[in-house]
Amino acid sequence: MTDTSRSLGEIEQDIVKINETLATISEVRSALKDFTSLVLQETKGPNYVHAFGDRLNHVKRGLNRLAAESEVLKGGLSYAQVAANKTYHWPTIKNAVENNAAAEERRQAENNAGRPKDPCLVIKKNTDQALKQLSHVVLEKKSLSTTPNYITTQINEWLAHEKPNHVEISVHFNKPECDTVSGSSCSFTVTVLKALTATLEVDYYRASDTITFHRYEVNSSTNRPPHQEQPLVFQKLNVLADMAFQDMSVLPAREAISSILHWIASYYNLFTEPCFRCHRRLQFDSPHYKYLPPMVRTWIRRKVDYMEPDREMPQAYTTAGIAYHMLCFVAATKVASKVAQ
Ligand SMILES: [Zn+2]
Repeated sequence: MTDTSRSLGEIEQDIVKINETLATISEVRSALKDFTSLVLQETKGPNYVHAFGDRLNHVKRGLNRLAAESEVLKGGLSYAQVAANKTYHWPTIKNAVENNAAAEERRQAENNAGRPKDPCLVIKKNTDQALKQLSHVVLEKKSLSTTPNYITTQINEWLAHEKPNHVEISVHFNKPECDTVSGSSCSFTVTVLKALTATLEVDYYRASDTITFHRYEVNSSTNRPPHQEQPLVFQKLNVLADMAFQDMSVLPAREAISSILHWIASYYNLFTEPCFRCHRRLQFDSPHYKYLPPMVRTWIRRKVDYMEPDREMPQAYTTAGIAYHMLCFVAATKVASKVAQ
């Protein structure tokens, strides 16, 4: 395969990704609408703080996903610039997107007549800070929680009893866990020797016994000069982390923390393990990412909503820690079958 060829299958995958991104844009819009309507409502009920955090998280997750998905699109889009009119009919795509956007704007304008125009930008700017403030509101009185430092306890238990013996992994707390209105919050960095570091900001919600990952960054475990760009493999890994963390955040808190640590630990052989499907180490990914090692490590998925109920789950969804190239993973899980429907 050369830089300028892209198979029909890959183009189909590009289209799937573009569709997914467009769907995410709609979701972000509606999450944003929910959030603004909550903020603008006249009376604030007793659940206001919780609802505020909840909806803001929803917006934040959408934006994270959007950022990740647009990373994935880079390869396909830069190819499209080269191959332009043969395989992509840009005027049609552009018109469709513009028409959708215009229709959405009109709907919004009708619903929000007289309100400030583009809350998206303002909120995007303030989300991080607001979220931080909100999740770090420390209770004046010590809460009666029977499990103080829940996240820290779970991490320590995982390190003591569940950590795979062959993996050299350490956890550093960037900020000790503190109580919040609805549970607790903390930030920590996991380092897997010779592979990667993952910095996570995590909230624990006591009432629902769930975890929210509201910020995470995967990086090289070796220090790089401050102004040097993040290596491409880690840029792409952040895209995958987004999918993984979304899947895991629906699990009960203890299981979610254990799953995420297992997943991060499974990267100990990031640069050495060949791909389970094609048995090679490097594979040409896209003009943007060039050659990448198998950078997927599978995690067990509970539900894949587009799969036919009677079809067997692909192995890549039922076994944790298998190494795949991104494209081999997509092929192994037959995401392309979505297009055929
Ligand atoms: Zn492969």
